[in-house]
Amino acid sequence: MDLQDRLEDVRNRMRKAAAEAGRRPEAVTLVAVSKTFDAEAIRPAIAAGQRVFGENRVQEAQGKWPALRAEAAGIELHLIGPLQSNKTAEAVALFDVIETVDREKIARAIAAEMARQGRALRLYVQVNTGLEPQKAGIAPDDTVAFVALCRDELGLTIEGLMCIPPADENPGPHFALLAKLAERCNLDRLSMGMSGDYDVAIGFGATSVRVGSAIFGTR
Ligand SMILES: *Cc1c(COP(=O)(O)O)cnc(C)c1O
Repeated sequence: MDLQDRLEDVRNRMRKAAAEAGRRPEAVTLVAVSKTFDAEAIRPAIAAGQRVFGENRVQEAQGKWPALRAEAAGIELHLIGPLQSNKTAEAVALFDVIETVDREKIARAIAAEMARQGRALRLYVQVNTGLEPQKAGIAPDDTVAFVALCRDELGLTIEGLMCIPPADENPGPHFALLAKLAERCNLDRLSMGMSGDYDVAIGFGATSVRVGSAIFGTR
């Protein structure tokens, strides 16, 4: 199977999962995660009509996306990896969506940079649903207060919540927890589900899934 077949396969499975959950297929966005793949490998996805992409490193994304963006209209770029505050200016300049807002310091830095650059990015708060020490994200118990701080004190528009469940656990309870937290925050967008579990995530209400290896191959 080449990339375009794999992409079509993922889109079909997404449609099927949405139908099984009684949801409209358009309600779920595919974020194609192109991290570690170079421009050459990404072009076939763009040629197949894919426009929304995810990258986890600011510097790596800077190396390939300005050129790719110039080749096709309508590219939407999501930062899905942790953001260090010294990279905030570059991230705000390059990305359309930051999915990894997870602490006050970075929320403040993003607010200041958006004001300085006159840009309004779409933002997600990342939740560490498994409370894994090595993983980024705000603790579930702190999520409602943190979203309130972002909105009320920093004037940020938060679009939704994002999570990466522990690799060795059943993801269902984590997706359910993220959905519950989003409801308590009055948010209706959920970024959850990767190559191994995006159909499960759609069953739990994902509005976007981040799929890498199932499209681009193993890294
Ligand atoms: C790499 C990555 C993905 C994609 O993972 P696959 O298993 O390759 O689909 C999704 N989300 C985040 C945050 C990632 O870093």
